[in-house]
Amino acid sequence: MRDVHRPTDTLAVVIPLYCEGAHLAGTLKVIVRALDDLDMAYRLVLVDDGSSDDTWHIVQAHCRDDGSVQGLRLSRNFGKEAALAAGLEQAEGDAIVVMDGDLQHPPELIARMIDCWRAGADVVEGVKQRRDLEAGWRGAGAKLFYRLFTGLSGYELRGASDFKLMDRRVLAAWRAMGERSLFFRGMNAWLGFKRAEIAFAVPARAGGDSGWSAWQLVRLAMSAITAFSSAPLYLVALSGVGFTLFALLLAVQTLYLKLSGQAVDGFTTVILLILLVGGVVLLALGIIGSYIARIYEEVKGRPRYVVAETAGPPR
Ligand code: UDP
Ligand code: MG
Repeated sequence: MRDVHRPTDTLAVVIPLYCEGAHLAGTLKVIVRALDDLDMAYRLVLVDDGSSDDTWHIVQAHCRDDGSVQGLRLSRNFGKEAALAAGLEQAEGDAIVVMDGDLQHPPELIARMIDCWRAGADVVEGVKQRRDLEAGWRGAGAKLFYRLFTGLSGYELRGASDFKLMDRRVLAAWRAMGERSLFFRGMNAWLGFKRAEIAFAVPARAGGDSGWSAWQLVRLAMSAITAFSSAPLYLVALSGVGFTLFALLLAVQTLYLKLSGQAVDGFTTVILLILLVGGVVLLALGIIGSYIARIYEEVKGRPRYVVAETAGPPR
């Protein structure tokens, strides 16, 4: 049990923002109201992920008006994962909360998260209530991804969201993870620590549209799977073993037929085998290729994001 309620405890709240200008002023008001109700000093870290609208102006205005708000603008749109990482690198506090900037993560839950944290949990996760999981192709895609991810990596992520509270020790451990391609939910699950869950219903977006394109989601899913599981590579090796055994059997049969003088023209068999083996070889190359792509990304050692501008009190 943590020392219950130390008056010196501070909270940092990290929010990645991409083109949320349309509703940002109102959204921040709601969030700040919830934070003001806490019995804890807080600091807000707003990360503008290279928005093309007026998101950054609104962030700057807030930093001028409110000394507890700090702004960060990335030099272009690096994606939510990178924006989150940028905010987490800056965040300082005894507890750190990560949430979306579209009110889909209800700010009034933060108080309950803090209670769980004070009761001893190191990570408090907001878990989407099952019936709120998305419908349509996004939902079907997400379902397929979570099945694959859990099956291959062993980490259960279904219902998991990026709405989380972390103890400062968890943040320190996260910072020590040096990988370039980021998947916060998976990284957080990998870290372990004492975890607690809070279920929440996902409200509608405060305004605007989801900033993710279908292709970005597919890329995120691919990079998440290759980052957390080598199982596809073993599957390639395993199918190699299977095919070799099959080939041995066929070789024995073929030789026997040939030697006993009853070899027939197995044209169909040959065509089918070529097609099948060709397909498997290409698939295997694709899987290996996606791991090589990851190695290439990591080896380049580029920064995860580039900060163009900051606003608010210097640290
Ligand atoms: N976001 C971001 N960069 C992006 C896309 C989204 O920082 O390239 C932010 C966005 O502003 C929001 C959060 O990530 O605060 C979640 O995004 P969104 O609501 O579009 O995703 P969804 O709720 O559909 O998962
Ligand atoms: Mg959203």
